[in-house]
Amino acid sequence: MKTNAIRIHQPGGPEVMVWEEVDLAAPGAGQVLLRHTAVGLNYIDVYHRTGLYPAPLPFTPGLEGAGIVEAVGDGVTELKAGDRVAYANPPLGAYSVSRLMPADRLVKLPDHIHDRTAAAMMLQGMTAQYLLRRTYRVQPGDTILIHAAAGGVGLLVCQWAKHLGATVIGTVGSEEKAALAKAHGCDHTILYKSEDFVARVKEITKGEGVPVVYDSVGKDTFLNSLDCLRPLGMMVLFGQSSGKVEPFDTGLLGAKGSLFLTRPSLMAYTAKRSDMVASASELFEVVGKGVVKVEINQTYSLKDAAQAHRDLEARKTTGSTLLLP
Ligand code: NDP
Repeated sequence: MKTNAIRIHQPGGPEVMVWEEVDLAAPGAGQVLLRHTAVGLNYIDVYHRTGLYPAPLPFTPGLEGAGIVEAVGDGVTELKAGDRVAYANPPLGAYSVSRLMPADRLVKLPDHIHDRTAAAMMLQGMTAQYLLRRTYRVQPGDTILIHAAAGGVGLLVCQWAKHLGATVIGTVGSEEKAALAKAHGCDHTILYKSEDFVARVKEITKGEGVPVVYDSVGKDTFLNSLDCLRPLGMMVLFGQSSGKVEPFDTGLLGAKGSLFLTRPSLMAYTAKRSDMVASASELFEVVGKGVVKVEINQTYSLKDAAQAHRDLEARKTTGSTLLLP
């Protein structure tokens, strides 16, 4: 059969994403034919498009979606046609109307989770889950720092960390974003384009520093983030929206107080199916209870993915973004 998808034939700017008709085989053993009802936009899609994270060419980008199972291949017993499912995993290929997916990378959606909510939250939400619950286990009374607090991962982390009893400090790129982060549990916002965020974190923590920094901005914030940590603090570098962090002297970790540094990825934290299911279940629970709200603040037609990338890279988006087939 045929379907439509965004294809990238060479890495580059948003314009390299073209809408094409592509062939789609019947699902093979262990596979599911999935018709997307919604696709999630994530910053990692930009890294794939630009070639920062190389993908074999040509390819269809995208790692997150939700939809309806249309057919299953041999050996698939836990899913059947008509099931509502979602995912946030390789293989690439989410920017498509329909696609094949390995059945063991899908989770069934509970009735209370809408497809659009799922497509908007699976990747960013399971990331928030492992950051707060596994990489550094946030405790009641902790004061934590999250960069880009009004972004997709940022708004989820603010709400979830608040629910866990933390005081949340968040950096943001504008006054509007500060108001949005505050409305989602961020206790202190810092306008990091104009304010010295190290000085402000020191002021808020009365000189002590924070036990953990969640830094997805990378190049522009990494070294200063180390200065926000208290001794034995944990630097969680989980992205590079401003560019890749330059190689640095590991002696700095000692000089700044025996710091820990980790560079985690959702793929590693959910490589085992049991970990993925546990993470998704925790996410469904906090969203189901209304503790964490998923803000879908932008929607685009999937065909217009290039414009969505332009807006994401220009820091114009807040919360989560959907691409609709
Ligand atoms: P966001 O919605 O957070 O968008 C990125 C935000 O980063 C912007 O809105 C902007 O917010 C901020 N930013 C700061 N400097 C720049 C810059 N130079 N260019 C563009 N943006 C900048 O995206 P996501 O929620 O999808 O992802 C957030 C980050 O988390 C990304 O770096 C992503 O790669 C990473 N990530 C990592 C995962 C992992 O497992 N390691 C999984 C999921 C996401 P502001 O204007 O407020 O500064």
